[in-house]
Amino acid sequence: MGKIRQLPEDVAMKIAAGEVVERPASVIKELVENALDAGATQIEVLLEDGGKTAIEVSDNGCGMDREDAVRAFARHGTSKIQSVDDLHSLTTLGFRGEALAAIGASAEVTLHTAEEAAREGTAITMSQGVLAHPKPHAPVPGTRIRVRNLFHSIPARQKFLKSDATEWKACLDVITKQMVTHPEVGFVAKHNGRVIHEVPANQSFMSRVSLLWGIVASALIPVESEVPHLSLSGVIAQPEIAHSASKGRQFFAVNGHPITDKAIARSIKDAFGTLLPPTITPVYALSLTIHPGMVDVNIHPRKDEVRFINPGEVFRFVLQSVSQALGSQTQSFSRAEHIASPLLTTNAAPVYPKQSYDTVPAPSSRHFERRTATFSPTLALPPIAAETEEQVTTAPTPILTFDACYLLTVRDGSLLLIDQHAAHERILYHRLWQEHEKQTPTSQPLLLPVVLHLDETERALLEDHQASLESLGFGFSQQDGQSVLTQVSSLLASKQPEQLLRQALAGVGEERHDPDLRDVTHRLYAMLACKAAVKAGDSLSELEKQKLVADLLSLPDRFTCPHGRPSYITLEPTELEKLFKRTGFGA
Ligand code: ADP
Ligand code: MG
Repeated sequence: MGKIRQLPEDVAMKIAAGEVVERPASVIKELVENALDAGATQIEVLLEDGGKTAIEVSDNGCGMDREDAVRAFARHGTSKIQSVDDLHSLTTLGFRGEALAAIGASAEVTLHTAEEAAREGTAITMSQGVLAHPKPHAPVPGTRIRVRNLFHSIPARQKFLKSDATEWKACLDVITKQMVTHPEVGFVAKHNGRVIHEVPANQSFMSRVSLLWGIVASALIPVESEVPHLSLSGVIAQPEIAHSASKGRQFFAVNGHPITDKAIARSIKDAFGTLLPPTITPVYALSLTIHPGMVDVNIHPRKDEVRFINPGEVFRFVLQSVSQALGSQTQSFSRAEHIASPLLTTNAAPVYPKQSYDTVPAPSSRHFERRTATFSPTLALPPIAAETEEQVTTAPTPILTFDACYLLTVRDGSLLLIDQHAAHERILYHRLWQEHEKQTPTSQPLLLPVVLHLDETERALLEDHQASLESLGFGFSQQDGQSVLTQVSSLLASKQPEQLLRQALAGVGEERHDPDLRDVTHRLYAMLACKAAVKAGDSLSELEKQKLVADLLSLPDRFTCPHGRPSYITLEPTELEKLFKRTGFGA
């Protein structure tokens, strides 16, 4: 019994059609969607010359009987809806009944199809809009559609096609999106005879993304969150992954449809905050499920854009869910610390979360004395130098300084190059937030209180924001009608307390114009951390270097400074092998 009926013309009219076929990638999208709608669990996509010469999609879905195979090519021939009301309860990807008609009008199409257990299959061709008589064919269950020479007879369209490479890229983008959207379906994708992707059926979302993007599963962080009417699930990659492999590794689906939405992308980027520099896009594959009444999916003919009825709520939800996932990583880091380092009990001690950085056995006490002796207490760097004994008990690999700025050491079999300023900035920034969250700024009285000669604006600012500044660890008193700076945060103990205060003052000044307090605080902390951190050119003792590196590596967000610049880079032996051309040259 055939499944396809002709849509009444008025229904067809109501469905804004749009151009279905504009390039090979759109053909693939339609054909793979049809295969998915047909319940396929295995789909193969073959392309030649970026899809310009040939596109072939085979599936093991429900197939069609002969009558349907003919109707499938009719304009508005669809088995998926019968009336406009059906639009609201749509569970299929297609419904316009236009794709095959449009493709058949622009190329040479051959369709082979058979239903399960059919005694005979059907072969039928449509060339430049002309349908040939169906012919019997071997009953291979499922459907195979071959599209040759797209737009060959329509020069006006053909001339808009880009180079093979560009068309291929667009095709690959479509295919990968479908592969991510349907981890339950197995796919093979070949271009010019070469297998580009091959993924098995019945994968979890995480293993599909991991396999497809070549990212180890341990570098993927699961995202799982739900509020009434909204849920978000999927994975994000740890920030450092984005530094090397961000391009094209962003995926976002709404109710099962991959979409592109700048504001959503922005929300995800914002959730990463200072973990990534402004220019680097995070890696993510996320799927949002939203109450159908809260989204309009039909604003775009290809459905790759949507309109949210309440966008602010959606963006906030996405941002919160992603930062929560990143945050839960932080928690699991600190749990790991307790298990991994029973020896190292104070927070001054180096803890190596996640990756287990090698530590060398504890040194003799003589060694320890020698080391403490080299420690210069006069150097005004309390944040690095405050602690003495604990971290020395682990005596990790010595640290070299290069170019008065970079620290070189070996951890866990990798070479680490650390930017001392960026690293210290990150450490200070992290501690400022910790104190901020615990509301316990530790202050240090100034030996020489500074009389502040403030102008009118600064005076007003100080009056308005004294409490915020005190919460940052600054302390004030009054003397002859002048404000005197008496304390600064011990984290920021600086040679120029007054300069630091003026910067903070300028920072809180901006706050008035900015409703997002957290963002202002971030900028302020980033700025304060930057001012107080050691600079390139500052010389550090061995102990200070050890402390700096250990502290940095103990942080969940150790990969970047608060402005998003990398704080360290690692060189793996395999990378060195490549640099020294030890690979590919035989033994
Ligand atoms: P739509 O998908 O919008 O219904 P199409 O032009 O893409 O319109 O397809 C027309 C009809 O052909 C579909 O409704 C479906 O019944 C049938 N069809 C197309 N491709 C396949 C396939 N791979 N397997 C089974 N049936 C298919
Ligand atoms: Mg379709």
